[in-house]
Amino acid sequence: LYVEPPLADGAEIALDKDQTNHLVNVLRRTPGDNCVVFNGRDGAFLAEIVQVAKKLVSLRLIERTTEQTPANDLWFGFAPIKRLDYEIQKATEMGAGMIQPVITRHVQNARINPDKLKAHAIEAAQQCEVLSVPDIAPETSFEKLVTGWTDSHGDRILVFCDEAAASASPVETLTRLKGKRLGLLIGPEGGFSEEERERLLGLDFVVPISLGPRILRADTATVAALALIQAVVGD
Ligand code: SAM
Repeated sequence: LYVEPPLADGAEIALDKDQTNHLVNVLRRTPGDNCVVFNGRDGAFLAEIVQVAKKLVSLRLIERTTEQTPANDLWFGFAPIKRLDYEIQKATEMGAGMIQPVITRHVQNARINPDKLKAHAIEAAQQCEVLSVPDIAPETSFEKLVTGWTDSHGDRILVFCDEAAASASPVETLTRLKGKRLGLLIGPEGGFSEEERERLLGLDFVVPISLGPRILRADTATVAALALIQAVVGD
């Protein structure tokens, strides 16, 4: 269960309405039962339900069961598609450390609610016991991203998934990038515009990767690209 407050042995914490609902009505827990909580910073704790009063649960933390895992260093940028829950969920499961919507020319869904993105990430982290919930960065434009990349991301290499631009095999390309900090950019359903592709290909911190000859949906490409990156250079 994801909670906001700091976690420490013996601390008591109160759950909010949604978490109470999840614990009591979905998981059917009652006072005296145990559950595991995490907050993305202090590891995971075994907790005991002390009471359910006025429809709110309070928990007492018993002991830390897992140390906090270090935050993942992989930046994942995506041009928002109509349904965002799947992409955020998969990016969280597959170890993205920062997630950022990038508004490109052919984006169909430019109304992004960062709180919803965070909620999707928390839900995915809860389900998969990922202790470090990715940060959700405010949306940015394609232009701002590429012009400000080296200032804000230092020496991080931006891997841009594009079916036509890559010359070497993806495994070869990623093996060459082992040890470097990486970012991954996936385009929208309509793809990157010709101008955007040319722009990316002309930048020395950008490396194109192909996921094969088939045109994949953006959410499928996200999963395939993250799986590839984690398999070749992940730790
Ligand atoms: N009609 C678009 C085009 O031709 O560019 C297709 C875009 S595809 C549905 C959505 C995004 O998924 C692309 O912008 C790219 O980032 C990624 N993608 C899809 N298939 C891919 C592949 N085979 N290799 C690399 N990236 C791919």
